[in-house]
Amino acid sequence: MEANPVTTAADALTALAARAAALDAADPLAGVRERFLLPEGVIYLDGNSLGALPAAVPPVLQDAVQRQWGTDLVRSWNDNGWWQAPQRVGDAIGRLIGAAAGQTVVGESTSVQLFNALTAASRLRPGRPLLLTDPDHFPTDQYIADSVGRLLGLEVRRVPARELAAALAADGERVAVAAYAPVDYRTGERYDMAALTEAAHRAGALILWDLCHAAGALPVELDGIGADFAVGCGYKYLSGGPGAPAFLYLAHRHQGSFDQPLTGWHGHADPFAMEGRYRPAPDIARARIGTPPLLSLLALEAALTAFDGVEMAQVRAKNVSLTGFFLDCADLLLDGLGFTAATPRSPELRGSQVSLRHPEAYPLVQALVARGVIGDMRAPDLLRFGVNGLYVSHTEVLEAVRQLREVAVSGEHRGERFQQRATVT
Ligand SMILES: *Cc1c(COP(=O)(O)O)cnc(C)c1O
Repeated sequence: MEANPVTTAADALTALAARAAALDAADPLAGVRERFLLPEGVIYLDGNSLGALPAAVPPVLQDAVQRQWGTDLVRSWNDNGWWQAPQRVGDAIGRLIGAAAGQTVVGESTSVQLFNALTAASRLRPGRPLLLTDPDHFPTDQYIADSVGRLLGLEVRRVPARELAAALAADGERVAVAAYAPVDYRTGERYDMAALTEAAHRAGALILWDLCHAAGALPVELDGIGADFAVGCGYKYLSGGPGAPAFLYLAHRHQGSFDQPLTGWHGHADPFAMEGRYRPAPDIARARIGTPPLLSLLALEAALTAFDGVEMAQVRAKNVSLTGFFLDCADLLLDGLGFTAATPRSPELRGSQVSLRHPEAYPLVQALVARGVIGDMRAPDLLRFGVNGLYVSHTEVLEAVRQLREVAVSGEHRGERFQQRATVT
């Protein structure tokens, strides 16, 4: 007898709903969602682009503006701990990325931190003419590598992450620095940070990790794997807010020789001596540049309290469960509708997002957003759905896929209003 497709989909939905409810009921992080302020009627699957607003942020920002700035004024640099904030917040992020205190500093954008770290790292390997980076790396990472290459007279060679170990084994003694991400921002594929770090070190090269899609999403053990340098943004899985400053990790063993290209006064050994010549601070403070964006920095500090009492292993387990469940829902509900999964099936090869390919990716995402299911699109054909286990549930994942099915089946996305590309996709 032939299966009736309508009944089959309805049965699948009932079974998936029961599974979602069971997974959510057993979720040790379920209560953490209350630490975020999410609007009613929205399913937020874009925390890999801009994290949701933590409830701790508005009162802290209110205090930072009205009392610290408005009343305490310039005294806040001493009295409210403004001067120490880049290192204090750095240590708070350090706890989430396996970095012991005194190796992480916060300030500037990821792009600026990338430039600093890559330049300083290259200076630590004089005589080696190659920089390696991923042809699928986030654009800013590739552009900055090219600029650093031009400035220092180095050749930038693009080697995919999955070929990096072989490239280092073959030609590694010519490599100064390898600059990579542990998670592909488009497909969500995850790479083995420990193995690639070891491969770089075996060749005598240094490694610079971009943790934008890893920090706050999965356990990272920078000290444990012997990483050299890392950068990452504050506004994705760390939920520090739009334009939140980025972080730079500088392993203890490199701090004495880190030759900061942007020699700003906050990185000076004695900033208030107001000397005319730069003398770098002996420790992580030498990675500081100039006056940091205090309001954003304090917002990020408050946002990080959403991780209080939460183990990164728990976040990882939840995110793997959410992405796995998403893929299962897609298999059952989107079959025959033109979607293919770009994200690897194997849990250890996945980051914290699911990417689906579809030729009509843009209008499909727009139609979903109009329904309150927020994901995003990356050219040319990827629908991207990030999950942050601190605030996303399995029930929401199922609902998102169910709505995507409705849109695709009905052709709702073919409407005129979903065709026009906005500036930000
Ligand atoms: C998000 C992201 C960036 C963003 O850089 P900004 O300077 O913060 O705009 C850089 N690299 C990667 C890998 C990213 O995912």
